[in-house]
Amino acid sequence: LTEESTTYDRLVHNGRIVTVNGDFDILDRGWVGITDGRIASVGQLAEGNLLPPALHTTDARDGIVMPGLVNTHTHLPMTLFRGLADDLPLQTWLQEHIFPAETRHINPETVEAGALLGCAEMLLGGTTTCCDGYFLEDVVAEAVQAAGLRGVLGQGVIDFPAPGVPDCSRNIDQALAYVARWQNADPLISPSIFCHSPYTCSAETLQNAKRAADRHGLLFQIHAAETRDECDRIQAEQGVTVIRYLDRLGLLDHNTLLVHGVWMDEEEMELIARRGSRLSHNPQSNMKLAAGIAPIPQAIAAGITVGLGTDGCASNNNLDLFEEMDAAAKLHKVRHLDPTVMDAATVLRMATIEGARAIGLNGEVGSLEVGKQADLIILDGRRASLVPIYNPVSHIVYAAHGGHVRDVVVGGRLLVCEGRLMDMDLEGIMARVNRIADAIRSGKNGP
Ligand SMILES: [Zn+2]
Repeated sequence: LTEESTTYDRLVHNGRIVTVNGDFDILDRGWVGITDGRIASVGQLAEGNLLPPALHTTDARDGIVMPGLVNTHTHLPMTLFRGLADDLPLQTWLQEHIFPAETRHINPETVEAGALLGCAEMLLGGTTTCCDGYFLEDVVAEAVQAAGLRGVLGQGVIDFPAPGVPDCSRNIDQALAYVARWQNADPLISPSIFCHSPYTCSAETLQNAKRAADRHGLLFQIHAAETRDECDRIQAEQGVTVIRYLDRLGLLDHNTLLVHGVWMDEEEMELIARRGSRLSHNPQSNMKLAAGIAPIPQAIAAGITVGLGTDGCASNNNLDLFEEMDAAAKLHKVRHLDPTVMDAATVLRMATIEGARAIGLNGEVGSLEVGKQADLIILDGRRASLVPIYNPVSHIVYAAHGGHVRDVVVGGRLLVCEGRLMDMDLEGIMARVNRIADAIRSGKNGP
């Protein structure tokens, strides 16, 4: 597809290109040509040849050029609660710390500040697409739009009063109003509906939310089979396990993203694979809340599409997908006492192309291929902890962290250059969040 006469809008060159395409090609001294926000060409500089012409060039300086990471599970405004409560069981953490803090402090202003901080953190750490779910998602979507990120953004649905939804009998109506505003409003933003869980939403709410999502062709998201406690509860109330319960309600199909899936048996995994539902794996959140170890190698073997996610900041406690890749690889190795389990390439695919597939965007992002959106990042090759580079995929999973990300391009737009945000006032955002944290702190210790 390379033509002598082509002048690209931007040319990223002099990098080790990790394409994550079907053949998993890695190109040394490679370049990526970008035109109209899309990848127009991926090539390799032969000895003595000149680079193709471009309006803007970015020299990767022998660093690693790779697809922007896809975070399949976030609650962006929860950056506000980073480190607020740790070392607690999920239900104590949720009921005694997170839900009360949300009730007291979550409003459009705080959601905006927290979401902007989340966007800044993700961009600086190389994440270019996120799949989010929260309340006041309208405000989250505005923040994601302002940051220039790509997002599948779900309005939260839960059967008790929530921020922005004081009357929970109207939770689906409000989700639909949100969808009406954002569907086809911005090419980078896809609205979605997020049911909190099988234990906080009734069967009727779950089915109505799924029907509403289907009517508009949207991704339906739900936390499912996260803890043993949840499984015992559903088993006691419904007489079946969580995944079977969701299937009985007709919730499992290719437009459903199950988040966590820690407690699933072989038959349930086969069921999920047959229905085509996707899975978001959040190893660090599962480890921190001691939820358990999701059977991910088995899920992949069963044919389930699995993406990687950080979960909200309060249970991680950051949005760094490089750390998440490292944790995912090691957790399953030690679980199976087998270092060949979850090899680096598998984990990288989960954080890129498989994550994109899990949220329905694999035709657009997740690999560096001609015709796809130009969502790419550069890892700085001149950092002490990334030298030498024998195998860039090894570095991506086992040596790199978000702080090694040098440049970030989303849809052809350069959003991070030399480690700095181009279009966001990070100082201003951090000051806003610190003021909110002062209020949360005083509320927590107040009368
Ligand atoms: Zn979550």
